[in-house]
Amino acid sequence: MPEPIFDVIVVGTGIGGSSLAALSARAGLKTLVLEKNPRIGGACSYYEKDGFHVDFGTHLCTRGGKGAVGEVLRRVGGTSRVEFVQPRKLCRITGLGLDVPLYTSFRTLFKTMFRLNHQLGVTLREFPDVLRLTHDFFWMPDSEIEKWNDRTVEEFIFKYSRNPGLLSHINVMMALYFVYPYWKSSAGEAIWCTKRMMESRAVSYPKGGTVIVPRVMLDAAKDSGATLLTRARVRKIRVEKGAVRGVELADGRKFRGGAVVSTSSLKDTVFNLAGARYFPADFRERVKGLQESHNAIQIKLALNRRVIQEGSLIILGSPHGDFRPKTATIPRVHKVYEDLLSGRIPELVPLYLVVPTNFDPRLAPPGKQFVTMCTGVPVTTAKLEDPPEAWEKAMMKTLREAVPGIERHILWKEVVGAQAIESWTGKPGGPAISTAQVPGQVAGERPGIRSPIPGLYFAGDGAGGRGIGTELAAQSALECAEILDSDFRHGLIP
Ligand SMILES: Cc1cc2nc3c(=O)[nH]c(=O)nc-3n(C[C@H](O)[C@H](O)[C@H](O)COP(=O)(O)OP(=O)(O)OC[C@H]3O[C@@H](n4cnc5c(N)ncnc54)[C@H](O)[C@@H]3O)c2cc1C
Repeated sequence: MPEPIFDVIVVGTGIGGSSLAALSARAGLKTLVLEKNPRIGGACSYYEKDGFHVDFGTHLCTRGGKGAVGEVLRRVGGTSRVEFVQPRKLCRITGLGLDVPLYTSFRTLFKTMFRLNHQLGVTLREFPDVLRLTHDFFWMPDSEIEKWNDRTVEEFIFKYSRNPGLLSHINVMMALYFVYPYWKSSAGEAIWCTKRMMESRAVSYPKGGTVIVPRVMLDAAKDSGATLLTRARVRKIRVEKGAVRGVELADGRKFRGGAVVSTSSLKDTVFNLAGARYFPADFRERVKGLQESHNAIQIKLALNRRVIQEGSLIILGSPHGDFRPKTATIPRVHKVYEDLLSGRIPELVPLYLVVPTNFDPRLAPPGKQFVTMCTGVPVTTAKLEDPPEAWEKAMMKTLREAVPGIERHILWKEVVGAQAIESWTGKPGGPAISTAQVPGQVAGERPGIRSPIPGLYFAGDGAGGRGIGTELAAQSALECAEILDSDFRHGLIP
């Protein structure tokens, strides 16, 4: 049988792969999309249980339809099919002396900032500096932001304040943004993301579950002639005479392609799928040294009635200690993340909890509520010092303290650990973000879309792009589509 021939072969159907497939098919390129899983969506995928729709990992889109995700949807004609929902009571920060509702309205911003900082232990004397900090975090000019790309969030905060309560809050927020410690994350990237988020004011959840976004993109790709295959694991990216020739699947099928775009991590693509020997030594070393973000342990809870009113909660708990943001010290704040990196349950257990059914009640049987909560854990290559059961116990204790009586309403509970994420996304270690957003790995210094092998490209959260999670992956796909277009036009791809 002759091998089917395509212009572009896309590996993966997460936000990165599905966006790219839609953009490339709409540009008239003969596109094949390959997904190893039975269902599309990558980190935005889902499963169903007892009438509940369960998002696999991702929930909130930080810029709704107004950022890169929105831009891809616009370009491929999918805007009207995705409704981003934003409840008035978007979030509440609660636990360890904090109780701060976060509303979507801009008018409450100052009041919220005052209340939060007061509860964190920021004194009136410190307040003007914290106001300047907030202002710069939200509204710094882009030319200034660039100067912070190679410095850490901690260096940026220290310019204004060393208040440990404030730092412990920043610690939690940066874990939500980048799944990485704030003293290692890029300040430029954090400010860029916060500024865009404030401009968009569109943090939201897509009606129908996060999978709706890649689904609409893949539908657009198929409408433009693309072929989508699921249960199609790429075993090998074929390189012949120094250029990419196509892919071989685990079941032996072979496809030819002028360009292959991998949305697995760079480490997986270079060392497992293509083969290290095809890459120059300095590139191999760079990829080997790339830092990935951490992973998450999630608990999914089906409840017999509506128990939580907000769209999401940020819960602080100290199940094994007496951590209080107000009385913390900087070394204690650091230790929280250091423990986490060693797989030890830290003194402060922050939970990020989302209630998808408060955005879209159709995701559960009538009257029921679905809740998912997570906390950070190291990637699977590091061993958890405390066993998964201990993490589950600590998380449940933290939840019970924040939402008393919730346990009486649990119909079922499921734990999704780091290994499950790793095996679903295919990215070794299972990082939430496969190239962490640290100095040296953001903006101009982020690994590029073009690989050193002609015809091989990287997209998704590992290369190019800027933004939080899904935004990062969608922005990377937009950049990749432009590069492919240019390389085809200039005859760089056969
Ligand atoms: C638990 C969790 C929670 C998160 N929460 C949020 C959130 O709330 N908001 C947010 O914006 N971001 C969140 N993120 C981050 C965000 O989901 C990711 O950064 C983004 O979705 C990554 O998209 P991607 O296309 O790069 O990769 P992925 O979504 O990981 O997709 C990669 C795809 O490639 C496929 N694949 C890999 N190898 C092969 C192969 N050999 N052959 C065929 N297919 C292959 C995989 O099966 C997968 O479908 C979260 C991530 C995780 C893990």
